[in-house]
Amino acid sequence: MRYAILGDIHSNLEALRAVLDALDQVPFGALLCTGDLVGYGAAPREVLRLVRDLQPTVLVGGNHDWAAAGRLPLEYFNPFARDAILWTRKVLDRVDLDFLGRHPALATHDGVTVSHGTIHDPEAFDYLQSAYDAHLSFSQLRTPYAFVGHSHVPVTFRSGAAVTYLLGDVIELGDAAQAVMNVGSVGQPRDEDPRAAFGVFDDETRVLEVHRVEYDVEAAVARIREAGLPDFLGERLRIGR
Ligand code: ZN
Repeated sequence: MRYAILGDIHSNLEALRAVLDALDQVPFGALLCTGDLVGYGAAPREVLRLVRDLQPTVLVGGNHDWAAAGRLPLEYFNPFARDAILWTRKVLDRVDLDFLGRHPALATHDGVTVSHGTIHDPEAFDYLQSAYDAHLSFSQLRTPYAFVGHSHVPVTFRSGAAVTYLLGDVIELGDAAQAVMNVGSVGQPRDEDPRAAFGVFDDETRVLEVHRVEYDVEAAVARIREAGLPDFLGERLRIGR
């Protein structure tokens, strides 16, 4: 089975369209979404419509999705994120907000676990970004493979006597019994590469490809400015931070 993995789209329609165009060239059998469809960006309605049309095999809720739906308190967020969540609530209708609030923070499907934050405490929405975080998550992981989001930085952790991590565009899992993979962010990359990120994983070859695609960053920045959202949310897209 080949899986396509998308996460942290964050209401960035231009980035999502570019990723979907790229995915047209890559056959896959299942689509996994690691959460945060909304927040930060200025096209939540359009992004929700596209994602619903895709009918993902697995879709989990991210902290921004849950906050927009009123399922997570706003104190949890920095002021820029809070502004964007309040704006998102204003522009979405009840049906969209209910959709954002009804997906669990972690879901399992056919040997694959999908979570926005950590596996060991998904509803806390902590980042899974160190070998120690991964060690805690492996202790609770009941499937060979897991996909997480939230940090917006691609990284893969492999289980073993000591947890190891791998960076790069092509990740080979080798003989590791389990792996937790983060393919990066579609709509707000934070690894200093502004291109949109998505992943393709083949569970027969056990290889993860992290793809990066250029998109119309300036159109997304202009949309954020026109919506009256903080300029910083546009500026960070240009530098991938
Ligand atoms: Zn996010």
